[in-house]
Order: sequence, then C-alpha cells, then structure tokens
Amino acid sequence: MTANASAKTPVTLLGLGAMGTALARTWLAAGHPLTVWNRTASRAEPLVAEGATAAGTAAEAVAASDLVILCLLDDASVDEALKDADLTGKDLVNLTTTTPAQARERAAWATARGARYLDGGIMAVPPMIGVPEAGGYVFYSGAADLFETHAKTLAVPAGTRFVGTDAGHAALHDVALLSAMYGMFAGAAHAFALIRGEDIDPAAFAPFLTEWLTAMAGPHVTQTADQLTSGDYTTNVVSNLGMQTAGTPTFLTTAAEQGVSPELLTPYFALMRRRLTEGSPSEDLTGVVDLLRR
Ligand code: NDP
Repeated sequence: MTANASAKTPVTLLGLGAMGTALARTWLAAGHPLTVWNRTASRAEPLVAEGATAAGTAAEAVAASDLVILCLLDDASVDEALKDADLTGKDLVNLTTTTPAQARERAAWATARGARYLDGGIMAVPPMIGVPEAGGYVFYSGAADLFETHAKTLAVPAGTRFVGTDAGHAALHDVALLSAMYGMFAGAAHAFALIRGEDIDPAAFAPFLTEWLTAMAGPHVTQTADQLTSGDYTTNVVSNLGMQTAGTPTFLTTAAEQGVSPELLTPYFALMRRRLTEGSPSEDLTGVVDLLRR
C-alpha cells in the first residue's frame, strides 16, 4: 500500500453491477483502499486487477472497513447481502434505489444493529460517475454525522446533496425528480407523435423542443414553488388557468387531426378543468398540486 493510499479512508462496496463498478473505479483511482463483494464473484475480477481486494462473503467485506457502501438491485438484495454481517460500529451508506418508506425502515434496522445509516439516491447514470463536468450527484439523507465524517470520500464518485436527517428524504427527492422526468418524456413523446407522418424531420424539430422545454421548466418550477410557499396561487401569473383551460380543445383537436391519441394529455387537462371549477381562473397551474394530494 502506498503512503497516499494509507491516508485515504478504506471503503467496502457491496454490489458490482453497472453502477457499483463505476463507483468502485473512482475510489480506486482516488487511492482509497477498496474491498469489494458481489454475489456473482467473477464480476470482481477486473477490479481486483485494478487494485481492489475481493472478499469471499458479504460479511467479510463488511468486516474489512468501517465505511460500507451498498449499491445493489433493490431492498430485498440488501436484506439478502447483509443477513450474516456484523454491523456494529459500521457506517452504512445505501445507494440502492428504494422507496422512502423502505429507506426509513432500513435506517431503523441498521441503527438497531449498531450502525450509523445514510441513504442515497443517485442522480446519474454510470458514464457520469467520476466525471464531475457531467453534473451527476447523489442525494443523501439520514445520519448527518456520518455524512460529515465521510463527506470527502462520498464526493469522489459524484457531487453530494445532503437533504436532511429523515432517511427517507433522499429516496423521495430521487423519485420526485425522476417522476417529473417521466412527465417530460411523456410530453416529448406526444410532440413527436404529432409531427410524425408529416414532412418534418424529427432531427430538425428536436432542438425546438429542447429549447422550449428548457425555457419553460425553470420559470414554471420556480413559480410553483413560490406559490406553494406563499399559499397565493394568483401572484405573478402570466398565463392564467382560465386562458390555459380554454385552450385545451385546440390541443385535443390537433391530436385528433393528426391521428394521435390524447391519452398522455387528457389526465392533466382534466385536473386543470377541475381546479378551474374549484379554484379561480386567475390562478396559475399550482392548484393541480393540491388536487393530486389524496
Ligand atoms: P445491475 O443490474 O447492473 O446490478 C445489480 C447488482 O445487484 C449486481 O451486483 C447484482 O449481483 C446485485 N444483486 C441483485 N440481486 C441480488 C441479491 N438478491 N443479493 C445480492 N446481490 C444482488 O444494477 P445497477 O448497478 O445499474 O444498479 C444498482 C443500483 O443503482 C440500483 O438500485 C439502481 O436503481 C441504482 N441506480 C442505477 C442507475 C443506472 O443507470 N444503472 C442510475 C441510478 C441509480 P449479480 O452480479 O450477482 O447479479
């Protein structure tokens, strides 16, 4: 071990799938002593060739370092991997995607076994790991003292965003952002369906769509947050609900004219109409948030 490596926090990583392998390489490159374990042992071989130590069992891997990071398929795999491990005194960082409730249960489970627990939600795909300019980061929540102790080590693969001591909040931020992303993907699918079949090149259309979504997203999201905070949904409204709802037949008729199913648009338009009935035409679209809360 070099003098440089001995100065770096030893890390144990359980899970060498696409994401775990990408994470592993960054800690190795940064000179952290790295112990790895994977259910299918052969996946550790390339990393061993790069300087990692492969443990024979998950329990041995956990015993090797105080800082233990998990990047497994799902919550059930975490159960499976840690069933024989002694977690006493360990700092457990779980980057496995779970629900907020699963994260909270896992925090209580780990604490009962003598570990500090931090949950993580990775906002990156593997090629973005170890590439700071790619802008990837990880939401963390749970034990603030664990996060502070290991802040530098956790910042090696990607940026870090600590979002509070509720262990469920990292997963909640993660799922909220991805849910919004799917809404955006749904909108893009509808837009491409509308132009499909016309003499419009999708590649020429794409920059218009990207620029429009980019221009609209920031102001809309900020306005929604400001109105939810103030409770006044009529402040700084530039495109009011009355006008926007009156415009919806244009979108539905255009879809019909183009032979496109309106199924991605109609649920949102129905919520807009409901809010118009229950709220005020001079509001923005923020009232839809309240309608979604059951
Ligand atoms: P992979 O499918 O590539 O790898 C899954 C890993 O989980 C493998 O190491 C696999 O082991 C292990 N595993 C599965 N079931 C079990 C089990 N029962 N017991 C022990 N180990 C098990 O997934 P990724 O690496 O891509 O993803 C890992 C986590 O990272 C997931 O929670 C994912 O949501 C999250 N993530 C992934 C992103 C991505 O783009 N890839 C982006 C953001 C988050 P084995 O090799 O033996 O099958």
